[in-house]
Amino acid sequence: MTQTHIAGSIHADASNAGPQWLELPEDLNALEPALWPEGAHRNAQGAIVLSGAALTDVVAQHGTPAYILDEDDFRARAVAFRDGFPGWNVYYAGKALLTRTVARWVAEEGLNLDVTTMGEMRIALAGGMPAARLGLHGNNKSDAEIRFALQEGVGRIIIDSFYEIERLEAACADLGVRAQALVRVTTGVEAHTHEYIATAHEDQKFGLSISGGHALAALVRCHSSVHIDLRGIHSHIGSQIFETHGFEVAIRRTLRLAHQFRTATGTELPELDLGGGFGIAYTSADTPMTTTQIAAAFEEMIEHECRGFGLQRPQLSIEPGRAICGPAGVAVYEVGTVKVVDIDGGRARVYVSVDGGMSDNIRPALYAAEYSCVLANRVSTAEPVLCRVVGKHCEGGDILIRFVFLPGDIGPGDLIAVPGSGAYARSMASNYNQVPRPPLLSVRGGATSVLLRRETLDDLMRLDVGE
Ligand SMILES: *Cc1c(COP(=O)(O)O)cnc(C)c1O
Repeated sequence: MTQTHIAGSIHADASNAGPQWLELPEDLNALEPALWPEGAHRNAQGAIVLSGAALTDVVAQHGTPAYILDEDDFRARAVAFRDGFPGWNVYYAGKALLTRTVARWVAEEGLNLDVTTMGEMRIALAGGMPAARLGLHGNNKSDAEIRFALQEGVGRIIIDSFYEIERLEAACADLGVRAQALVRVTTGVEAHTHEYIATAHEDQKFGLSISGGHALAALVRCHSSVHIDLRGIHSHIGSQIFETHGFEVAIRRTLRLAHQFRTATGTELPELDLGGGFGIAYTSADTPMTTTQIAAAFEEMIEHECRGFGLQRPQLSIEPGRAICGPAGVAVYEVGTVKVVDIDGGRARVYVSVDGGMSDNIRPALYAAEYSCVLANRVSTAEPVLCRVVGKHCEGGDILIRFVFLPGDIGPGDLIAVPGSGAYARSMASNYNQVPRPPLLSVRGGATSVLLRRETLDDLMRLDVGE
């Protein structure tokens, strides 16, 4: 459906050009390769096609909003990490997006998998991921989670506190098993996008501090435990990182800790896990590194620091989440209303409301994440208009995309597609305003599969057992 909306006379006047990082695209219909699954294109009708499936056809059958995952693209990104880091263990961080099918893809491509809760363990195992290839994280694992992991034979338990060492030992003693464990440390490095800070101490809930001496004490404590097979050190410095400087500091500080541990115990730690956080492109302003670039930088730093501390090169691991599932997924919404709102200085802002919002993507509201989007059902030659894409929830902050140029003829019934929606969208979705959560669909070779069905009002009613 194409129609001229009420804002037909509003064009992208220079006074309303958006933030500095936002470029006016040369072609509003183009799909920027860095943002989209490999091979994404438009068909003769102008609809976006992922892996042979037109998004218009997919949502005609499954409705909107919907998350659509390109299976080949997901697998290719998993393989890029596996092959880009030869000899490393690559753990896919399940919290970014996990279903049984996703766990199966990860297992089939030879990656390991990180989980944090009973639910994530159960889904991963149900998808056929062998327990030995799971890593269990979390700063407050329950006794039930610890015992379940030990009984199933989860490959690595990442210890996060002194209390947990005791809990783990008690469970091991009770079950007659030994836990293979890493100790999660905080290096004082905190990284987000292009910025990182390296401090001596830190103020956050995860891990045991190197600078405070807690990390070394925990390592020595685990080393002396008959119940724990201490494998090494774990560090995760943050997410959506585009530079390797923060990792460089973390590598130096963790290897210095391994050196101190050897001095204290006479033993070298065989493993080092450097966590995840590799950035992806959500907008044209983002410039992610390739896995080859990341691997080369890491290898050089590790070699240099191991030589400096006189350490053997440990068995290394990384834990990419977003970088595997994020760009493989697209969220599709239908436009419901378009409204022109007067702001200051005689300027106007065009609000485009869609049939989802902060319940299916909390990231913009939670931490000011930026996204972009395009018209998905057709091409348009209308003038670009600076828009704000908002959801249908009862919050002024229910903003999906703060600033994006869309064709000026966008209107009710149009579809928009948001790239980069594979990670931390469905996995963080809620039922705010009693909105059922959208389905997760996968496409491959023109065929669509349902990984998670759409929630229904019946699902919501079934949970509501009060009178
Ligand atoms: C979240 C997390 C990851 C993955 O982060 P991404 O930004 O998705 O790559 C890896 N390791 C740990 C411990 C995490 O908490």
